[in-house]
Amino acid sequence: MKCFVCGGDMRPFIEKSFGLTNLDVCRYVRCDGCGLVVAETLYDMPRQNWEALNRECHAAYQHTDALAVDPNWLPRLKAQANVLNDLVKHGVLDESARAVDYGAGDGKLADMCRPWLKKFDAYMARPDEGYLTAEDLTPASFDFVITCSVFEHLLGASDVEKIFALLKADGTAALHTLVCEEVPADPNWFYLQPVHATFWTNAAMKIIFRQYGFKGCAYHVDARLWLMFRDTEKFSRLKACDGWILADAFVDYWKVKPYRK
Ligand SMILES: [Zn+2]
Repeated sequence: MKCFVCGGDMRPFIEKSFGLTNLDVCRYVRCDGCGLVVAETLYDMPRQNWEALNRECHAAYQHTDALAVDPNWLPRLKAQANVLNDLVKHGVLDESARAVDYGAGDGKLADMCRPWLKKFDAYMARPDEGYLTAEDLTPASFDFVITCSVFEHLLGASDVEKIFALLKADGTAALHTLVCEEVPADPNWFYLQPVHATFWTNAAMKIIFRQYGFKGCAYHVDARLWLMFRDTEKFSRLKACDGWILADAFVDYWKVKPYRK
């Protein structure tokens, strides 16, 4: 298997036993080049098994349980809504912009950023006018696309492409996922969840950032949120907002081992 980010060789890394109906043992492989780790078992799985596994694990991703899995979930969500609304206030984002929370789940974040941020979820859309349909997701039509806890579920280049293809030539992306310097070779690492398929490193993100034509990057520690700009003028307006670390390349903030205390 070749790395879908840098083309490097993927070598056996670790295995983890989940003992689920749709996932017994999961094999992980790691890229020699950029350190990206993918769950080879999930990548090789027929689509219907992947969907069955997602249904099997669905309960764990409901927000009532999300608090047990991640105690920081609600404060972080509020921090994300605050910084996003702040972007609108400072003209980094226009209130009339076409903006979507892709993989919005039950839509809590977008509901805290009403009315400008719309929602999309292929699996969890509710009968709510704030949700866009798959037909609404015209390529190159969005000024802003945010994904929260989506990138770890992606299954390769075409899934990444599907998201960034939504952006206009001057569009801005926002991203909340775990990005680390090095993925730990530890089957007990908390982030090895059954439906987490792709584990991102700073090096892999730096490549993706350039590949999709982004020119400015910002990271907000409290919100655990990256912004990726194609338009340097919008990027420069961000300097008026508090709490962002800015760089011309992907902000490789997390160098420490990605463990929770
Ligand atoms: Zn690679």
